[in-house]
Amino acid sequence: MDVKAMGDYKEGGITLQKVLHVPSLKANLMSISSALENGVDKVVFEQNGVRIMKEGKTIATGSRDGLLFRLDIAPAAQQMDQASTDKPAQAKTPPKASYEIWHRRLGHLNYQAIKKLHAEGELVATGKIPDGPCGS
Ligand SMILES: [Zn+2]
Repeated sequence: MDVKAMGDYKEGGITLQKVLHVPSLKANLMSISSALENGVDKVVFEQNGVRIMKEGKTIATGSRDGLLFRLDIAPAAQQMDQASTDKPAQAKTPPKASYEIWHRRLGHLNYQAIKKLHAEGELVATGKIPDGPCGS
């Protein structure tokens, strides 16, 4: 997975931390739990999208694409803090981590979806798919 930028995205007075811009997925990935820890009151998942809310106000939206919810932040790369980019822009090999780590990194994405991304070469998931819930 070619992670273009990783940084903080500021909107509505709050900062969504560790938003990943992944050109190959045409998506911004964020950690829901870190968003909730950083001022977001509510993340509402709906049939066709997701809304990130603070004080009753929608501050960011996303749309559903299959198994993933894509955050509608555009143009993403320019708004991010390039200094915090921790991956080279042109990574030759997909990033490698265990299923457990990917699950957490991708906002508790289900393991079958991670397996699919692995099969598509977007990422490398190592080890076995853990049994049961992750406990967080
Ligand atoms: Zn989980």
